[in-house]
Amino acid sequence: MRGKVEELRQFPSCRALGPDPLKGIDVDRLHAALVKTTRSLKEALMDQRTLAGLGNIHVAEALNRARLDPRRPGSTMTRAETNRLTDGIREGLRFALDLEDSPEPITYVEEGGENRFLVYDHAGKPCTTCATRIERITQGGRSTYFCPHCQPRWTRKGRRR
Ligand SMILES: [Zn+2]
Repeated sequence: MRGKVEELRQFPSCRALGPDPLKGIDVDRLHAALVKTTRSLKEALMDQRTLAGLGNIHVAEALNRARLDPRRPGSTMTRAETNRLTDGIREGLRFALDLEDSPEPITYVEEGGENRFLVYDHAGKPCTTCATRIERITQGGRSTYFCPHCQPRWTRKGRRR
């Protein structure tokens, strides 16, 4: 495992995550950053001030693993959901690391190469979990990929306390 972490550290966008990128996410800090913004989870997570080191692929994969709507405002997150999101980020990073035999985890999908991500760049293809077609939307000028079934649309309706 140590070797793998060393490999991950070479990956510039992960270096910023802290001493051990797989364990180094400060959940309290992440939650505090999310609940103070009305921006979407996708946009908030792409902001390096929220959590350094996450790229477009990682955010898409993490939100899918956490079953969260990328359009949902950060301010509506509960602590339990931020925990789930944190697990999703860790799992996604680990997956990216395991995908490649090469020393550096993949940060993009090579043209013509196999895409083994769950949702990233899979628009129109069936979700591997539920077979619903993956959708692509644009947020903050970047593509967002998500499964509308696994990541159901968040609505404010009925959630007001
Ligand atoms: Zn799905």
